[in-house]
Amino acid sequence: MLGLMQEWPLVCHKIIDHAARQHGNREIVSRTVEGPIARTNYRNIRQRSLQVAQRLERDGFKRADRIATLAWNGARHLEAWYGIMGMGGIYHTLNPRLFPEQIVWIMNHAEDQALFVDLTFMPLVEKIAGMVKSLRKIIVLTDAAHMPATALPNVVAYEDWIAEADGDFAWVDVAEAEACGMCYTSGTTGDPKGVLYSHRSNVIHAMMAAMPDAMGISSRDVILPVVPMFHANAWGLGQSGPMIGAKLVMPGGKMDGASIYELLDTEKVTFSAAVPTVWLMLLQYLEQNDLKLPHLNKVVIGGSACPRAITEKFERVYGVEVIHAWGMTEMSPLGSLATMKPEYAGLTGDALLDIKQTQGFAPFGVEMKVTDDENRDLPWDGKKFGRLKVRGPAVAKGYYGGAGKEQFDAEGWFDTGDVAHINENGYMQITDRAKDVIKSGGEWISTIDLENMAVGHPDVAEAAVIGVAHPKWDERPLLVVVAKPGREPTRESILDYMKPRCAKWWLPDDVAFVKEIPHTATGKIQKMALREQFKDYELPAA
Ligand code: ADP
Repeated sequence: MLGLMQEWPLVCHKIIDHAARQHGNREIVSRTVEGPIARTNYRNIRQRSLQVAQRLERDGFKRADRIATLAWNGARHLEAWYGIMGMGGIYHTLNPRLFPEQIVWIMNHAEDQALFVDLTFMPLVEKIAGMVKSLRKIIVLTDAAHMPATALPNVVAYEDWIAEADGDFAWVDVAEAEACGMCYTSGTTGDPKGVLYSHRSNVIHAMMAAMPDAMGISSRDVILPVVPMFHANAWGLGQSGPMIGAKLVMPGGKMDGASIYELLDTEKVTFSAAVPTVWLMLLQYLEQNDLKLPHLNKVVIGGSACPRAITEKFERVYGVEVIHAWGMTEMSPLGSLATMKPEYAGLTGDALLDIKQTQGFAPFGVEMKVTDDENRDLPWDGKKFGRLKVRGPAVAKGYYGGAGKEQFDAEGWFDTGDVAHINENGYMQITDRAKDVIKSGGEWISTIDLENMAVGHPDVAEAAVIGVAHPKWDERPLLVVVAKPGREPTRESILDYMKPRCAKWWLPDDVAFVKEIPHTATGKIQKMALREQFKDYELPAA
């Protein structure tokens, strides 16, 4: 017998309709590329999204067309998203930090038909547009007064272009299973792979993300998504923000400590989300200028492992709650968050920090397990680590075009490529990426654990651990360190600091000092490049 409840498809335009109706006056504040701070609200965003949808349709764009965006976080970018989805199209976020050849490859693979672009990236677009055969229109997210001179054909100023539509448009009636968004993973190995979100997965993910034990956000929050909309959907905040009716503060292209602090302060931001490097810059800025964070309640930190020192400083010095989160583009992206279950209610000090350092537990909507190489489930004992696998309604079931089939199994589990353990209370801890883990004498050493330890040393700014060939043990860990400005830590002081904190056989065999550690376009340490750089390194004991 079927239930007697209504069919109410989970489609994304319902999110912006709801925001406009229930929270119409709530502000969206953007730092524009042109310079000034711009203010709008959900009612206007919806109206202008309707104009975008109408205008796209009039230009001949159709349902399922991939429409790319190359833009910072800002109100116009959000309007473009909802307009594209509302005419049945698929927003395709491009990461401007990739090499131009990679962007061209991705755009051709996706067969992008149009491109919304911020002024910042026009020089880049000048170079690459001719190499993307499918591209028919370029909409520059600015007004006529700020339009750059360009020799490219079919380029329009966004404000003029949408002004030609009145917004008298009915959202296209799509099914919830239809695609609405697309994002390629950076592909540190092999070609980038396209993840194709559906209306349903985006809506479910947004609800999941907002839950109290996930991000725990509400209409009373002022949210600053520092994490870019081009990096895994701004961790869903472009959907969960309007869904719950929170004020949004969009940072544009300025993510340095001073600019972020200015927005946190003037807009009285209560909640923010970003990768660890952004928070490092902010904390440095606060210290140098003796500033406090009176409005900020909570920050979500993820994308790569959050150093313990960041959590400690935020919580103890600034009174800001830190939630460490893990996820990936393939998961829309949230997978787990380290909020506190009642089992940990009494914890304080280092014991509390230990739990906060884990990547947390999966909310409803994410199933998780760890397996050994023979695909046997490992116990949740907080020790045995293996391949981390997930499934759920906002987890990919394949890549666009069919790449990467080996990562998906018959029971629907997706192999994340991460290595982790899960404790008796469900808290997961990433110990490595499968391709980075060090195999020493048949045992695995977690590079992430060692890196977290090393950055606890007062003179260490950043640390990376890689495996270096060893005649007896196959591989041994080498610690690569960037010192804090003005400090000169020695090999001995760092190893002495780490000794009591790790198993004896985990201790790095050597420490190499560098000026800079290479990063990927999504802010992760580029281990492949480091391994290449140190491939002939001779360990002292070898
Ligand atoms: P990519 O950078 O590969 O394009 P993502 O941004 O989707 O893609 O990165 C996902 C990966 O980032 C995860 O598989 C994991 O290895 C790493 N990651 C994300 N969050 C964390 C975290 N909190 N701790 C450790 N690693 C993390």
